[in-house]
Amino acid sequence: MNDRQRGPAARAAPNGPRWHAEAPEEALRRLAATPDGLSDAEAARRLREHGPNALAEAQGPTAIALFARQFKSPLVWLLFAAAGLSVAFGHAADAIAVLAILVINACVGFWQEHRAEASLAALRKATSPTASVRRDGAVRVIPAAELVPGDVIELQEGDAVPADARLLDAASLRVVEASLTGESEPVDKVVEPVDAETPLADRTSMVYQGTGVAGGEATALVVATGSGTEIGRIGDLLAEAGDQETPLQKRLVAFGRLLGLVALGVTAVVFALGAARGRPLDELLLGAVSLAVAAVPEGLPVVVTIALAAGVRRMARRRTLVRRLHAVETLGAVTAICSDKTGTLTVGQMTLRRLLLPGRRYDFEGEGYAPEGRITGDGAVAPEADPLLDLALRTFAGCTSARLERQGGGWTAVGDPTEAALLAAAGKAGLTPEAVEDAAPEASRLPFDADRRRMTVVRRLPEGGLRASVKGAPEAVVDRCSRVLGADGAPRPLDDAARKNLLAANERLAAEGLRVLACAVRDGDDALMDSDPETVEDALTFVAFAGLQDPPRPEAARAVAVCRDAGIRVSMITGDQPRTALAIARELGIAGPEDRVVTGADLDRADASFDPTATAVFARVSPEHKVRIVREWRRRGGVVAMTGDGVNDAPALREADVGVAMGKTGTETAKEAADLVVVDDDFATLVVAVEQGRGIYDNIRNTLQYLLAGNAAELLLMLAAAVIGAPTPLLPIQLLWINLATDGVPALALAVDRFERDLMRRPPRRPDERLADRLFLFNTGFAGLLSGGTALGAYLYALGADGDESRARAFAFNALVFAELLKAFAFRSETRTAFSLGMGTNLRLCAVVAVSIGLQLLSHAWAPLADFLRTPRLPLADVAALLALGFVPVTTLELAKGLRLRRERTRRAA
Ligand code: ATP
Repeated sequence: MNDRQRGPAARAAPNGPRWHAEAPEEALRRLAATPDGLSDAEAARRLREHGPNALAEAQGPTAIALFARQFKSPLVWLLFAAAGLSVAFGHAADAIAVLAILVINACVGFWQEHRAEASLAALRKATSPTASVRRDGAVRVIPAAELVPGDVIELQEGDAVPADARLLDAASLRVVEASLTGESEPVDKVVEPVDAETPLADRTSMVYQGTGVAGGEATALVVATGSGTEIGRIGDLLAEAGDQETPLQKRLVAFGRLLGLVALGVTAVVFALGAARGRPLDELLLGAVSLAVAAVPEGLPVVVTIALAAGVRRMARRRTLVRRLHAVETLGAVTAICSDKTGTLTVGQMTLRRLLLPGRRYDFEGEGYAPEGRITGDGAVAPEADPLLDLALRTFAGCTSARLERQGGGWTAVGDPTEAALLAAAGKAGLTPEAVEDAAPEASRLPFDADRRRMTVVRRLPEGGLRASVKGAPEAVVDRCSRVLGADGAPRPLDDAARKNLLAANERLAAEGLRVLACAVRDGDDALMDSDPETVEDALTFVAFAGLQDPPRPEAARAVAVCRDAGIRVSMITGDQPRTALAIARELGIAGPEDRVVTGADLDRADASFDPTATAVFARVSPEHKVRIVREWRRRGGVVAMTGDGVNDAPALREADVGVAMGKTGTETAKEAADLVVVDDDFATLVVAVEQGRGIYDNIRNTLQYLLAGNAAELLLMLAAAVIGAPTPLLPIQLLWINLATDGVPALALAVDRFERDLMRRPPRRPDERLADRLFLFNTGFAGLLSGGTALGAYLYALGADGDESRARAFAFNALVFAELLKAFAFRSETRTAFSLGMGTNLRLCAVVAVSIGLQLLSHAWAPLADFLRTPRLPLADVAALLALGFVPVTTLELAKGLRLRRERTRRAA
């Protein structure tokens, strides 16, 4: 392991206390804390002193910073300079108009961004981690940001460690520290201090922020928070939390800069041409500067922010929380979804349906976790008179960490649903957990572990001696058995033939889509209390198989079909056994009759690379396999969404393009590593989120085309006039007006347009697809040409008619405004024309366009507005004609689009 992996503390611990080397009492004393925790008042005081347990960058900008940001662009400063020049040259009215527009523009920008920020902040809050802390002697769940040094926290399996802390107490604590040390195997943690010089990765007496509890329990004393933590010091988290800009946003900033340069070049040309023709300097300067500004779409990144924030809100309404903004954008490009089975594709509610004992079979009726329902068998079943059934149920139900709770009218599972289902089944035979415990009290246990796939509870028998009750995955249990109970209840040796029989029975249950668990027992003395599973879980006597039903989610099959239409590959990744996985995958349409299952063992045997694209079902896989599957998908150019819920899933979630954690069953660690959290755990919800991602991307693309086409039109008009030697067709104030009222406001409406209905009937966009592809450039250029050309035509026509520059300018101005506004309707979709979309589907856009046209009309009726815009009032007939002219670009665009779509359709049909 190199220094980078070990983190900075491995290189040089700062001069502060070496918490890992101190005894717990010493650490408590140093921080003036007690094992019962701080008082509320003291915690509040320390919070003021140390600040929140968060990184400053993660908190979003303040309102003032946001407003100031509106004036940050160099282009705005250019405009201020232009206003100054206007004053210098005696055009105070111009200057005021320019300043007014600047302020209005900033206010609109501020308001929009503020709303966007507010929804992102709400989200940060909703997805921010919590911590269990002892305060004033009681255990409380508080936002992790409120932790202070000296707090005593409680940790359990699945928790994300919320701050750096010294262990005070630990029971079988195992922590995954991959985020800090790169080591994916869980590390055992104990209270005993370690040597002061111990590197970070080996400090077993400490837990660090950003790591996850894989097992066990602990209490710990917080010693560092926020940027004082190890991970805060590395700065990775800092960069990640602060850097919420998406790749698209970054590209747009660069793109905007490029456009700025182009605009400056054009401006220089216009300036030079005007100067050569002897135009007055003040007009030249003002014209040049404002042309530069008008030609630059300052709104680009803002529009993207707004579209993304609107998307985040929309997704939250559809039960998906976005933790990292880039996910919204990436979701739309997803080509593969790797989904967990249990709880995501299935409902995650287990019911024991069948119990197989040697020579006997029992069927269980009843729904949910209610311990009520009939048990039928080959003959009538009287559980109290059936010792074998009694033993099987006691073994399954006695090996548990779950509880059943009566809530309202029904029963709910607390803990592992599989174990709860076994408790419910025992209840159906009249066997309560208390009865099991009373008859044979628990003496020790070996908790479930996904690698071993077994769990054991050792109980004291009333007649003396101990009995280990083992349950687990069928092959994992049968593998450790040397005997099997006969139909008469007497054990006999488990020879190869009997072993084969057992495994065949398991396969039959699994082929029905049932989740199969096996149980076995071993009687012995105190040696059974050993903490080594290898010793205890050996020489077992096989008792029974249980077949549990966890039906597929009703919506999941439809969502899988939607993915198929949308060109997205769905694969199931599960820890369950191949047969069960395949049966469920077939039921859901994920796997066809030809599909085979690839197991974790197959992956281990395969060479370094394998082809995940050819596999629909991965079974008996471990979290490490998940990482490999994602990696191979990505190596083949796939864009992968991967779901996960366990502590060990964090690396796979990070590796995926979109890491998805489950809201209900997901551990805190998984949620922290994920980009998205699916609140209801439902696969169908994830598919809806993908659809949203596609829609948001479409909206951004459409809006950008619209904005850029507007800039192109202005540039073309100004450039063409300069080239042919005509006076400048638009004044600075008019250009600004167009950018604000005519382009900016409809763009906002386009950015949050309703999504198209056929989003999921198209293939995903190619991962390497550039935003500005050929169609994008064509649409933008063609539209710019049309409205720029229309305005130029109107301008030259008026200029030729009577040579009145001011009237000609009014013609150009009005023609361009109307053309731009109406053109917005052509940019709602690339795959459908405005006629087929219908007007009513974006009422916001209709309203915005109507108001803007109304304002433009008002400028011909109301002198102050006309003066403000420096435009003469035109007679009604002229205005009507210019408005009609404004329909030319949009109609042409839509006809061209219709033709293109028809051509594409015939090409596809051929
Ligand atoms: P998924 O990955 O779809 O959630 P899973 O729950 O089967 O599937 P794991 O939790 O890794 O995945 O479990 C692996 C196997 O271990 C299970 O298929 C089951 O046979 C066994 N198992 C699961 N939970 C327990 C438990 N509490 N006690 C004993 N064995 C268990």
